[in-house]
Amino acid sequence: MIKVVKFGGSSLASAEQFKKVGDIIKADPARKYAVPSAPGKRYSADTKVTDMLYKCYSVASKGGEYKPLLDEIKARYNEIIQGLGLDLSLDKEFATIETSFVGRAGRDYAASRGEYLNGIVLANYLGYEFIDAAEVIYFDDNGNFDLDTTEPLLKEKLSNIEHAVIPGFYGSMPNDTIKTFSRGGSDITGSIVARAVDADLYENWTDVSGFLIADPRVIPDSKVITTITYKELRELSYMGASVLHEDAIFPVRAKGIPINIKNTNAPEDPGTLIVESTSIKPEYTITGIAGKKGFATITIEKAMMNSEVGFGRKVLEEFEKYGVTFEHMPSGIDTMTVVVNQENFAKKEQEILAGIHRNTHPDSIDIETDIALLAIVGRGMKSTRGTAGRIFSALAHKHVNVKMIDQGSSELNIIVGVEEAEFKDAIEAIYDIFVNTQI
Ligand code: ADP
Ligand code: ASP
Ligand code: MG
Repeated sequence: MIKVVKFGGSSLASAEQFKKVGDIIKADPARKYAVPSAPGKRYSADTKVTDMLYKCYSVASKGGEYKPLLDEIKARYNEIIQGLGLDLSLDKEFATIETSFVGRAGRDYAASRGEYLNGIVLANYLGYEFIDAAEVIYFDDNGNFDLDTTEPLLKEKLSNIEHAVIPGFYGSMPNDTIKTFSRGGSDITGSIVARAVDADLYENWTDVSGFLIADPRVIPDSKVITTITYKELRELSYMGASVLHEDAIFPVRAKGIPINIKNTNAPEDPGTLIVESTSIKPEYTITGIAGKKGFATITIEKAMMNSEVGFGRKVLEEFEKYGVTFEHMPSGIDTMTVVVNQENFAKKEQEILAGIHRNTHPDSIDIETDIALLAIVGRGMKSTRGTAGRIFSALAHKHVNVKMIDQGSSELNIIVGVEEAEFKDAIEAIYDIFVNTQI
């Protein structure tokens, strides 16, 4: 049995947290490979080491007074090393980092040092071998993760090592410079390592007891999802439920390795199990709700548009021309609505509208801004009648004005557009009807 364990920033923010992590790893001999993030926030107003590194590098690379900033970063690590009573000095590492910052080694290099140093500390604390991710995780010339190069090398390397720490978040480019994934990317590294060693389980340890039905910042006492499929999770992650990086699913998914989201501060809690498919019936009709703000809708109206060949294509062509992707496109007999990211659209708004007018001669075009989208996701919705009806009556009851609705053809999700100001009310109303009322 092999488990790969990834620990997020808050799980490794202090010596106290490191001790919890050490206990968790030592409690199960199957936990052979550990992937750490950089130290995160110790309390809510704290700063993540990754953000401190970005700032320090930006000052250093412009020839500014970076030393106090670097000292603060050193202090974060020294506090951990001393708190754990380790016989370890990072002075040499910091000297190299300083020279590289001044020599403009790049933002990605700078950010990656958070995980790199934390990996050294964790390996030392556990007595595990440290493997620099730069030697085992590869990107291609376009900066995309290169699975074909990475997998055999990583597999080979780990096949001879019983226990190892591999820092998350970064790897190397073909020209040997350092490249990071996008923010939160240590989740991806953990997934890649799990795949390479054919792990039985990928445990992702964080500061919540699993994937919650709704964002805890909106529903503070939200219940935990016990089992969720990769597909459901992807819908929720895409819509802003940010517990796990959305790209962390692909590497393990192809091999059917389950992911278990666990809480470092409550290791006994079962957490959430993410699986390919399951016979376990969801507890509620919906599995989860997530949402994002910052959308605009463009509604084009023209009598009988449904019988006009190529109408939709002509409309979408105008968005394509200006590089604006669309998120959803609900349509009716005489109307078609295109939902886009408001910021991207705003830059090219007049050009796109003029193009649509020229190409399709609509009766009217109506724009609405400051729209939030909610995704109500659940494998249970397919077999339950009246889900959409319940969503609407719950929203109407709370006086939330529904701007748009779109049911995915997989029947796995329903997307609802509401005004941003009503975002919180909308999530509360839906959580209430499906989870609290439980009918
Ligand atoms: P880590 O640093 O361990 O990678 P993250 O901050 O990336 O942790 O993810 C965990 C956080 O995600 C939680 O503390 C919580 O604030 C937030 N979050 C957003 N949506 C959800 C959700 N549906 N369930 C659980 N946590 C959520
Ligand atoms: N430390 C990085 C970040 O803050 C990566 C991670 O935590 O997964 O985004
Ligand atoms: Mg994270």
